[in-house]
Amino acid sequence: MSQQSKERPDRNSVSRRKLLLGAGAGLGVTLAGVPFLTSSASAASAKDGSWCNPAQGYFPDGGHYGAPRGGVGHAGQDVTNSVGTALYAAAAGKVIRLGEGVLTGRTGNGLVISHGGGVYTYYGHLNAFRVKLNATVSAGQRIGDMGATGNVTGPHLHFETHSGGLGDTSDPVDFLSARGVALSGGWPAIDPGAGGETVKTIQYLMTQRGYELVADGDYGSTSQAAVKKFQKEKGLVDDAQVGPKTWPVLVYTLTGGDGNHVKGLQVALNKHSAGLRVDGDFGSVTEEAVRAYQGVNRLVVDGEAGPKTWEALVG
Ligand SMILES: [Zn+2]
Repeated sequence: MSQQSKERPDRNSVSRRKLLLGAGAGLGVTLAGVPFLTSSASAASAKDGSWCNPAQGYFPDGGHYGAPRGGVGHAGQDVTNSVGTALYAAAAGKVIRLGEGVLTGRTGNGLVISHGGGVYTYYGHLNAFRVKLNATVSAGQRIGDMGATGNVTGPHLHFETHSGGLGDTSDPVDFLSARGVALSGGWPAIDPGAGGETVKTIQYLMTQRGYELVADGDYGSTSQAAVKKFQKEKGLVDDAQVGPKTWPVLVYTLTGGDGNHVKGLQVALNKHSAGLRVDGDFGSVTEEAVRAYQGVNRLVVDGEAGPKTWEALVG
C-alpha cells in the first residue's frame, strides 16, 4: 500500500476521503479522527476485487439514495430492468434474512447478506429467491431474480448498503465506487494486491496476451509487473490498476476456439454461478453458458463474448 501511495498520491487521497465520508460511520472505531488510514482501514477501501455489481440496469429518476419518500429518505439505490434479471451477491457473506418485509419499512420479497465487520447489503422487490436463508454466498453468485413485489411502480432492484451495523445505510453508489465497482454496470477497477476470481480472469487474459502468469487469483508483484508492461505497450498509464481503460484492450471477443482467454471467460462465468469446467475450450457448453448469462442480464443473446458481455461479467 505504501508503494502505491507514492506512485499515485492524488488518487489515493481521493479514495481515502471518499471512504471517510462514505463509510466513516461504519468503520468509526478504526477510522474516527485518523487523517490517514492505517493498513487495516485502507484494506476496507481497496479496489480489491471482493465486491461486484449486483444487477445490470439503469438508475430511474428519483431512485437515488436519500430521495424523499413520505418524510424519510430513500434508503437505497434503485436499479431498473425487467422481471427476471439476475441479481448477484455484491460480496461474499451469509444470507441472514430472507422473505417478505424482512427490514422495517421495506416491502415485498427481500434478503439481507452479512459481509462481516458490520457491513450488510439488502436486495428488495425480488421476483424469486435463488438462495436459502443462512446460505453462505460468494461474490457474484446469483441470489435471486429482479421483480416488482411490494410497494413499487415497476420492476427494479432496491439495493442498500449498511456499513455500521444493520440500519446504518450509506449511498450504495459511493459505497461500491470506493470499492472499484460501478453499480448497475461498467468496468470495475482492480488494484494491486487484489485477490479472487476476477484476478484469475486477468491472469488468464494476460497469459493469452503473451505474459505468462500463474492463475492463482493473487494480484501480487509478478502479475503487477506484467500488467504494467502490458499497459505501457498499449500506451496506457502503467499503474497496474486494471480499470475502465485497461479492460477493453485486455479482453478478447470470443465465439469459439480454445486457449487461456477462454479459461478467463469460463472463470468469469463461474463467478456468476455457471458451473463450467475451466478447460479453455469454447465448446457448446460454454457457448450455452454465455447465452444464458446474456439472457438474464438483458444483453444481446448471440453467444459471443464481446466487450459488453465481458464488462457485465467482470463488473
Ligand atoms: Zn428503492
